[in-house]
Amino acid sequence: MAEPYDLLLTGGEVLDPSQDLHRRCDVAFAQGRVAALAPSLPLDSAREVIDVSGYLVTPGLIDLHGHFFYRGWPGAVAPDAACLTAGVTTAVDAGSTGWGNYPALEAYVMRAAQTRLYAFVHLCAIGLVSLTARVGELHNLAFAQVEQAIACIEEHRERVLGVKVRIDHRATGADNALPALAMARQVAEATGTRMMVHVSGSPVPLATLFAAMRPGDIATHIFHGHPHGVLDADGRLRPEVRQAQEQGIYLDVGHAGVHIDLTVARAALAQGCWPNTLSTDIHQPPPGRVVYDLPGVMSTFLALGMPLAAVVASVTCNAAAALGQAHELGTLRVGSVGDAAVFALQEGEFTFVDAAGNRVQGSQRLVPLLTVKGGRRWRPPPED
Ligand SMILES: [Zn+2]
Repeated sequence: MAEPYDLLLTGGEVLDPSQDLHRRCDVAFAQGRVAALAPSLPLDSAREVIDVSGYLVTPGLIDLHGHFFYRGWPGAVAPDAACLTAGVTTAVDAGSTGWGNYPALEAYVMRAAQTRLYAFVHLCAIGLVSLTARVGELHNLAFAQVEQAIACIEEHRERVLGVKVRIDHRATGADNALPALAMARQVAEATGTRMMVHVSGSPVPLATLFAAMRPGDIATHIFHGHPHGVLDADGRLRPEVRQAQEQGIYLDVGHAGVHIDLTVARAALAQGCWPNTLSTDIHQPPPGRVVYDLPGVMSTFLALGMPLAAVVASVTCNAAAALGQAHELGTLRVGSVGDAAVFALQEGEFTFVDAAGNRVQGSQRLVPLLTVKGGRRWRPPPED
């Protein structure tokens, strides 16, 4: 018999929230796409068969917030080593570059990577590269140019999802926060794209930030521990948080070690507020800071009490919707892009931390075993 499939993952526990699917299932790939999904597929139907019995199979993960301007900004990481080793097949650079230097990110990093990369272009001309000089990127608003940002997005629509702005004392100071937010709004409106708003360390109330946001926009670092967070002084979830979520604003984690407070996350989850998307904000941390990969962030939220299906949804179908790619990515529906990840769900005693020194204990941990990208098993290039 001819082998219609390139790759067959057999015997795994498939968890695909886009189809409400959680059961033992075989998945086959052909010509870069998901070709079949059934309780049992013939073992001789594929050129490569991998037995994944006892392991969890998910759509390829999507990391909505990372920093990949490798060699352009010392804070960035090499995308393939950070993503494809961890089950992440699609990732988003969150404003490492701005409208002035974005073309270098696209030409030298995004096009060279095997990871599928998208980006938010920073409202500041040089994005986070300004941090190399220890200068907040929007302390001087001359770097924020609405027309230039619009032109950059228009020119690079294939990979640019919208505009990034950090509303943070360190990025804008107090005076420039609202003008920068208004300019980012203008850019998003003019291009019909999204804003990703960094809300950690904001000098203005969260309600003010949400008021400038529209359905589809992303509030990242949602569970930070600074003033103007999701909880009021009594630890209650602010009503505007739920309203924003109901309105269609994505609440994104953007962990980063420093942009999450586990006590805030725990209190929000206990009050029924689950983040729409989990993401890493992966970067090169200074000594002593723990930055988790995406399975690490997922394991942290399992430990905080978020159910496994919701955790997986947040990094597959929810994240795909935040990219406007729910028809193609974050799903194992037959015909969609052939990306998948295989994990061991390890039992044991695990501790997850934040940079403030808070800890959470968990009894499970997701360990990435295998990544399928474009219908092929991904292998790291041989070391030289
Ligand atoms: Zn970031």
